Amino acid sequence: MMDSSLQEKTLDVVKIREQFPILHQEVNGKPLVYFDNAATTQKPLAVINAITDYYSTINSNVHRGVHHLSQKATVALEESRHKIQQHIRAAEPHQVIFTQGTTDSINLVSIAMERSNLLRKGDEVLVSALEHHSNIVPWQILCERTGATLKVIPINQQGEIVMEEYRALLSENTRLVTFNHISNALGTVNPVQEMTRLAHDAGAWVFVDGAQAAPHTAIDVQALDVDFYAFSGHKAYGPTGIGVLYGKEKILEDLAPYRGGGEMIESVSFEKTTYAGLPHKFEAGTPHIEGAIVMGAAIDFLNEIGLDRIATHEEQLISHALKRMAEIEGMRFIGEARQRAGAISFLIEGLHPYDVGVLLDQMGIALRTGHHCAQPIMDFFDIPGTLRASFGLYNTTGEIDRMMEALQKAVSMLR
Ligand code: PLP
Repeated sequence: MMDSSLQEKTLDVVKIREQFPILHQEVNGKPLVYFDNAATTQKPLAVINAITDYYSTINSNVHRGVHHLSQKATVALEESRHKIQQHIRAAEPHQVIFTQGTTDSINLVSIAMERSNLLRKGDEVLVSALEHHSNIVPWQILCERTGATLKVIPINQQGEIVMEEYRALLSENTRLVTFNHISNALGTVNPVQEMTRLAHDAGAWVFVDGAQAAPHTAIDVQALDVDFYAFSGHKAYGPTGIGVLYGKEKILEDLAPYRGGGEMIESVSFEKTTYAGLPHKFEAGTPHIEGAIVMGAAIDFLNEIGLDRIATHEEQLISHALKRMAEIEGMRFIGEARQRAGAISFLIEGLHPYDVGVLLDQMGIALRTGHHCAQPIMDFFDIPGTLRASFGLYNTTGEIDRMMEALQKAVSMLR
């Protein structure tokens, strides 16, 4: 019998789920419920088949060969760049740089800023307290190496950035402000446009970590007016090992390359090497060709469904989950931002999150436990970690009800 909750109002989830073979399996004798989408999403057949197609038909190195396969692979890679440019509404395709993922994109900019001598003692980098380690450590290293100061934009008990404190931190010394679009640990959606405007008023650049936004919301880098925006393929139904850095053209043109090698040069001699233009200046070496091409297939998949419909569906999931989870005695939500998406972090009084996570796994339910690579957030709430349920477009309210049953069982077993 069909799970009635699959007939969601906004999406044909039955049809969507048919496209995700991995979801149709049992874990520990129970149908899998996959609620670890903030860590990575599962892949639709369109993506899986695009990988096979690439290796079965056009595999070849790009930008080098005159031969047929190399030209085909190059065209496919550049078409994918174009798709991504349109998807995030960048002005030009060469503002889309392929990287290994969000972490790599952040490192690219932080290393390039150091190489370009853009920071010195007295300069400040503002990082929100809501960040994944990926969006903390590279900036820490940059500050250590240049003598600049890293300052933290505080959050409140709801897990929201405190805007008055942010305004107070901005000054003529601020060179860069960085924060995520959506928090992986708490699900907070940040006011990117407003924060960017304030940073620009102070003369600072803005780097937005969009790792958690790409699967949940439409992105318009020009409307947001951000200077840099990064995301990973694997969190948006695409492959691992590939991601994107978007940057404003003039800024990217002026930044020094962060890695040297093939593909990124115009001419090389022992006396003087000149660099290629954008985007190749930042794409040294053979790229993750298959990944870049297949990321385009994942974007097609998302656009065929429509990010607005995905967002509406996921809002329904979140509000259903929050309502149902509040039924559990001792439920403590960590992070209760007014604008939220993607993830719900929680603790149950008297129970260790790890024990609950293990019991849920035995009942086929994949949740994440731990600090979610955001130890400063855990320190802020004075907790070692949380349980986190994070949703994707293929999840259903019926699955949330199954998680509830499992949580009730775990509570009665552990209490
Ligand atoms: N930023 C955020 C908000 C994330 O959630 C993650 C991954 O969980 C990252 C950055 C790092 O992404 P990746 O490991 O794909 O580079």
